[in-house]
Amino acid sequence: MTEACTRCTLNPDCRSNCLMGRGQEGTIMLVNDCPSYNDDFEGVALSGRAGDLLSHILFKLGFDIEDVYVTNLIKCRPRKDVLPKGGGLKETLAGCISHLHKEIRQVKPKVLVPMGSLVTKELTGNNFITRVDGLLLKTKEGKAVACHGLAAALQSPSLEKNISMAISFALVEAGKQGKTRGKGLIFNYKLGGLE
Ligand code: SF4
Repeated sequence: MTEACTRCTLNPDCRSNCLMGRGQEGTIMLVNDCPSYNDDFEGVALSGRAGDLLSHILFKLGFDIEDVYVTNLIKCRPRKDVLPKGGGLKETLAGCISHLHKEIRQVKPKVLVPMGSLVTKELTGNNFITRVDGLLLKTKEGKAVACHGLAAALQSPSLEKNISMAISFALVEAGKQGKTRGKGLIFNYKLGGLE
């Protein structure tokens, strides 16, 4: 799902206008920081390496990515995949946060999962993800369980376990039960994809 928006200067660089999320309403909502090249090219949120890693984590917990709702805080892919700094970031966040709040109102998640420091700060007011990683938090939007970002886990594979535990906690809080699985997928960190 995409929407037109010109509230900041990121939009002209994007192939897809302001990429909104996808998935099931009324379950958990995982909020990553911003769309990747693949997300923008495909017009589908979390469709690149980060999405593959998230699919792998969810699969091991007995879920498919379609069983939850996935989205990004910032709706347009930043130039060269690097978020603006200072005033540019403030302008983008000011413009994008209302899109996310509207999305939250439409999707009505039982539990929010802010992923990474920037999203956690915007949604929960906590500056340091390391202090709140995996904890149940109360926000204006309802319950939240914060965790590390997917880009950080692609750089530091040991974070996969933290993310998996936080998502598992959020799923339990949302009253969701996973499917019984057979052989699991393998995420190849070197190749950055599923095998
Ligand atoms: S405010 Fe957000 S949705 Fe609007 S153009 Fe900027 S990045 Fe895109």
